[in-house]
Amino acid sequence: LEEKLLQSQKMEAIGQLAGGVAHDFNNILMVILGYGSILVNEETLPARQKEQVEQIMNAADKAAKLTSDLLAFSRKQVIKPSTMDLNDIILHVEKFLSRIIGEDVQLRARLTPRELQVDVDRGQIEQVLINLATNARDAMPKGGLLTIETSAQRIDEAFAQANGIGVPGPYAVISISDTGVGMDEQTRRRIFEPFFTTKEVGKGTGLGMSIVYGIIQQHSGFVNVYSEPGLGTTFRIYLPFSEQSAEAALEPEVAVAPPGG
Ligand code: ADP
Ligand code: MG
Repeated sequence: LEEKLLQSQKMEAIGQLAGGVAHDFNNILMVILGYGSILVNEETLPARQKEQVEQIMNAADKAAKLTSDLLAFSRKQVIKPSTMDLNDIILHVEKFLSRIIGEDVQLRARLTPRELQVDVDRGQIEQVLINLATNARDAMPKGGLLTIETSAQRIDEAFAQANGIGVPGPYAVISISDTGVGMDEQTRRRIFEPFFTTKEVGKGTGLGMSIVYGIIQQHSGFVNVYSEPGLGTTFRIYLPFSEQSAEAALEPEVAVAPPGG
């Protein structure tokens, strides 16, 4: 628990700092990209120079991607939750996710027929799924399988304590598994740290998972990670059931939480 508190304070501080810088930096990048696109379309520009300007624009594009991650990370915007079915959110982004993971990775969605009513900010939950799919793609450069499953799960006292969350109850769960490179213990422990990345410069910002962590925390949920080097990784996202539907959620066939993965 102590560790989690420290983690969130650290993220808060870094977020504020990074957000300020990212905002100003983004304005500068827009100038570079703006003039760059004028120059690139200049008919009299020799081919060689045109190529060089394109290189500049590529680099500026990468920097813009970084600043947009930074802004998403720092923007501790108040969430605007509404009650909706988690399955519907997944159905809504499914196409987009399969575009992210590319043709070599197969997407399989296994959604529970149960209603999973949760109070969530749809855009932010979509952001979570996008970040996870992006990482899964990077973990499967030779292709593989990405499985998204949903379920309802009652969290009991023991499980809550083991995971450092204080509120037992009914949760909607999204489980996202890839058949990628996996992570060793050392990496797994650091993935939620802002700016922690094992990817090369320009490829990873190290912010995707801290954004995931922040969003899920704001929704009073939590994230578990199971990973096996060489075999793959499973993320399990737990979101509390909406108050109104909590009772119905607990009817039969809701398993008592095994931390499976
Ligand atoms: P980035 O993707 O920019 O590196 P993230 O915060 O999204 O930053 O992820 C941090 C690190 O966590 C990654 O660099 C990678 O080492 C590890 N990671 C995250 N998701 C996975 C995954 N599905 N499989 C293997 N490693 C992962
Ligand atoms: Mg990432």
